[in-house]
Amino acid sequence: MRFVIVGAGMAGILSAVKLTEAGFDDITLYEKADRVGGTWRENTYPGVACDVPSHLYSYSFAPNPEWSHTFSPGPEIHSYMEDVARRFGVFDRIRFGTEVTRMEFVDRRWRIETRDGGRDEADVVIAATGVLHHPRYPDIDGLDDFAGSVFHSARWDHSVELEGARVGVVGTGSSAVQIVGAIVDTVGELHLFQRTAQWILPVPNNPITDTDRSRFRGDPAAMRELRDQLSKTFTEGFANAVVNAESPQMKNLELLCEANLENSVRDPDLRERLRPNYRAACKRLVISPNFYDALQRPNAHLVTAGIERVERDGVRTVDGELHELDVLVLATGFRVDRFMRPIEVFGRGGIALETIWAKRPSAYLSISIPDFPNLFMLNGPNGPVGNFSLIDVAELQFGYIMQLVEGLAAGRWREVSATHEAAERFEADRVEAAKSTVWVTGCRSWYLDDRGIPAVWPWTFDRFREEMSKPNLADYELI
Ligand SMILES: Cc1cc2nc3c(=O)[nH]c(=O)nc-3n(C[C@H](O)[C@H](O)[C@H](O)COP(=O)(O)OP(=O)(O)OC[C@H]3O[C@@H](n4cnc5c(N)ncnc54)[C@H](O)[C@@H]3O)c2cc1C
Repeated sequence: MRFVIVGAGMAGILSAVKLTEAGFDDITLYEKADRVGGTWRENTYPGVACDVPSHLYSYSFAPNPEWSHTFSPGPEIHSYMEDVARRFGVFDRIRFGTEVTRMEFVDRRWRIETRDGGRDEADVVIAATGVLHHPRYPDIDGLDDFAGSVFHSARWDHSVELEGARVGVVGTGSSAVQIVGAIVDTVGELHLFQRTAQWILPVPNNPITDTDRSRFRGDPAAMRELRDQLSKTFTEGFANAVVNAESPQMKNLELLCEANLENSVRDPDLRERLRPNYRAACKRLVISPNFYDALQRPNAHLVTAGIERVERDGVRTVDGELHELDVLVLATGFRVDRFMRPIEVFGRGGIALETIWAKRPSAYLSISIPDFPNLFMLNGPNGPVGNFSLIDVAELQFGYIMQLVEGLAAGRWREVSATHEAAERFEADRVEAAKSTVWVTGCRSWYLDDRGIPAVWPWTFDRFREEMSKPNLADYELI
């Protein structure tokens, strides 16, 4: 069987490793960029780091004794991804600089086209194209008029000098918070343009000691134990809490965030401007040990008046004030409804994915789309995203996909895709379950779709694990 994997980020590397381990050999990864690592290749902004502990944000099959911090910096994560790809022989299978633009299911095979005019065929396609991948640019008048430098946080321009510069940061998500903490002591002035205040969970980012690192080197079991323990803590304390807005664990998270605001921000006026008017974790919870400290530096300014427009010299807010700037950073997140798109994908009988996803993307268990046989997504629509390890998520998803692939390889079926009935039932159940999550308790967030329904897994992580352990074949059209 021939496999094509689209994307060589965390999930694409994982797929190649696991398929090889299962004995498949005809595997090609298409990666439009010239290096592996996806998110960690693209996000190079100051302060970039994971916000899930590194020993949990690692592949289970490649524990890493060398992590430097509880939440290690982005470049370290990127090197880790490259190292795993190298050690597991993934590089040989990658076609870099090759963007997949079209895929069509014809005569039981996927016909694949790439931007450079290349053509390929595969029995199975794994779409590992990422979820936080397409930068979202804000719709602000006058951005082109700005005389200084302007760029998105995921497209950081390292040629721009920050030392002594007047820097504006638009947005208050996890990236913005990391950037603010990292640059405040370098820049001349920092202006944070806040539309929505964030709850901040204060978790220290401690260096991992040499003693621990050498212990991990000699005892991989200790690392595995730590990973399991972190996974349990995150699952119980976070992932399971957010899907039950009234749970004691949720209350606990709220208290920690409230205490952080009360105890860390001295000026009562600033404190009130930083106080969100919604519940903690309604938006993706921001984890930071230094954000409030950074905003209390004399050169830091929190701007809560809305942005009117960008002008040649800076940002004009609705109160008429002009905030003069040399650099403007758009930490405005990603278009989270893209997934495989803009690839043009055509399933059985030429049906276009764009038609099916015209309103919004969906997939059975976030993995399979009816009438798109032998095409599987990792980190697809409505999966578990949030404050836990997407590596864990992708590994569980891949274990599930492998069981369907094994049926193909053994000739038990030649086409496999979710039934319409299963996909519709999943969608209805998901929408119903979302009503008791913390994500619908009154905030705007990137979790919410155009109807205000969270486009994420609304059940516990334990349920996800359970669902992923074995496909229910009755939910699949097997031909
Ligand atoms: C700043 C930041 C911090 C994060 N921190 C965490 C964290 O702490 N914990 C966590 O679990 N998650 C975190 N995430 C989420 C992160 O995106 C995932 O953990 C993970 O890296 C996603 O891997 P992926 O392979 O699914 O997608 P990506 O890393 O986005 O990789 C997708 C790859 O596919 C390629 N590609 C896409 N389309 C095509 C095409 N048509 N043809 C060819 N190639 C294509 C892209 O170039 C890219 O290399 C973070 C995200 C960001 C942006």
